Amino acid sequence: MRQPLVAGNWKMYGSRAENAALARSLLDLVRPESGTEVLVCPPFVYLWDVGRLLKDTDVALGAQSVCAEPLGAFTGEVSAAMLKDVGCRYVLVGHSERRQLYGEGDALVARKFVAAQSQGLVPVLCVGETLEEREGERTAQVVARQLDAVLAVSGTGALAKAVIAYEPVWAIGTGRTASPEQAQDVHAMIRGKVAALDATIAASVRILYGGSVKASNARELFAMPDIDGGLVGGASLKADEFARICAAAD
Ligand code: PEP
Repeated sequence: MRQPLVAGNWKMYGSRAENAALARSLLDLVRPESGTEVLVCPPFVYLWDVGRLLKDTDVALGAQSVCAEPLGAFTGEVSAAMLKDVGCRYVLVGHSERRQLYGEGDALVARKFVAAQSQGLVPVLCVGETLEEREGERTAQVVARQLDAVLAVSGTGALAKAVIAYEPVWAIGTGRTASPEQAQDVHAMIRGKVAALDATIAASVRILYGGSVKASNARELFAMPDIDGGLVGGASLKADEFARICAAAD
């Protein structure tokens, strides 16, 4: 039985006061008896503040990216050890905005995945196709390539301590959601691919869906057999909306 996970990606939004207020509201709204794990990923500079508010609560802290290198002269970067030091449990790797806007390719994403795990962080590996790739019927090929790049350096066993997020690029921040059936097809393909390597890990690895998830569409997405929760951008910035999405995963 996989525990659902709903993760909020706060992207580059909010101020110190606003993000603290968002975290406080969320703590008021998230039901402690819920069977769903809840995670928020604030911008780097607010991790410490938000982490202090979340300490010893049921809401986990994660970062939005990590440096592939362990330490050294890498101006502007943040290492996995630093994220661990400020209380992170999770980190997103390979988010499509990093891949598309900052040129992060499969090989770099794989190194980030390994760097995260080397410090005991759980990487949330984001994969997904562009609209052009979907229309060219290359979704399965692209997602398999993105997964293979990580498996090649980390090995299948590493997925036992990771989360996968399927995020079709055409659905991120666009208001256009994959239908539950479209998402389920890709989730089943991902799980099937992992199962061909290790059936036990395939049965336990959580695969989240991301792309314009809202309270109004979360329930039908999360009802799909291979969708284990969501990675939520825009809608995670409103505490009540995000709490309703979390409740939909129960
Ligand atoms: C995301 O940032 O990962 C995301 C899915 O964004 P949105 O929910 O806004 O589409």
